[in-house]
Amino acid sequence: MSVIALDVGGTHIKGTVVEEGRILSHAHWHTRAERGPDAVMDTVLGCADALVARARRHGSEPRAAGVVVPGLVDDEEGTAVLAANLGWHDTPVRLWMTEHLDLPVAFGHDVRAGGIAEGRLGAGRGHSDFAFVPVGTGIAAALIIGGRPFAGEHGFAGELGHLVVRPGGHLCSCGNRGCLETLASASAIARRYAATTGEAGVSAKDVHLRAQAGDPLAASVWTDAVDALAEGLAALTTVLDFGRIVIGGGLAEAGDPFLGPLRTAVADRLTFRGPPELVAAELGHRAGSLGAALLAQDLLDGSDR
Ligand SMILES: [Zn+2]
Repeated sequence: MSVIALDVGGTHIKGTVVEEGRILSHAHWHTRAERGPDAVMDTVLGCADALVARARRHGSEPRAAGVVVPGLVDDEEGTAVLAANLGWHDTPVRLWMTEHLDLPVAFGHDVRAGGIAEGRLGAGRGHSDFAFVPVGTGIAAALIIGGRPFAGEHGFAGELGHLVVRPGGHLCSCGNRGCLETLASASAIARRYAATTGEAGVSAKDVHLRAQAGDPLAASVWTDAVDALAEGLAALTTVLDFGRIVIGGGLAEAGDPFLGPLRTAVADRLTFRGPPELVAAELGHRAGSLGAALLAQDLLDGSDR
């Protein structure tokens, strides 16, 4: 008896088949979101069919599915309220998946699901209260409180990337100025380096390497990013007092060369208290799909945790 799980992102759809805690299969597909919202949904349903077929090839019949999506998500209604990079607006994902697969479907937010997975299988193990903060094309936080992700009244909790850290700063995709995401997301680091040097196509990881090698422009962009992220994490700590913050995304995979200066910058800003433990995530890009599998398994087990 297995579950299938999908993590639908703006560029990739990641899929997993899990049987009693064992991963049977992983897969990923290109989202090709430029084709429009209906085509993306057709692709998602096709990916679900492909995972069912994979499970059966392993001799396992899927009993439930989990699907997680980015953006503003209504977990209760099963609706993608606004997933701008998929073109989805009030899209009833759970209903359509349920009708297509004729299986029970668990639905949730990609980052909150990633937080659930890190909490049960990764760097949050043993901690009932922690934050999971993936730093990627955007920045968001899963706030795990009492072992559960806190979504807020409207499902908007944890939008750390839109915390204003530089009032009047760069224009953000959300319409505000100076949001954390405009300085510290991987895409912002690459964009700012390109704007400063005129050299496009340098990734955030490469900016970090160049900064370490003594490139002063790379160092300036990098330091701005670390300072901005530290302000965001210090604000998160001041309000919620987490003892541990799990940093995800490709930059965190660099480990201490990234996390060391970030730890110092966070500690410097927390004047009246000690800093939280900052650790790298353990599940990498699979956190979301593993979280979706856990949501599906919980549905089967009748657990609402
Ligand atoms: Zn913003």
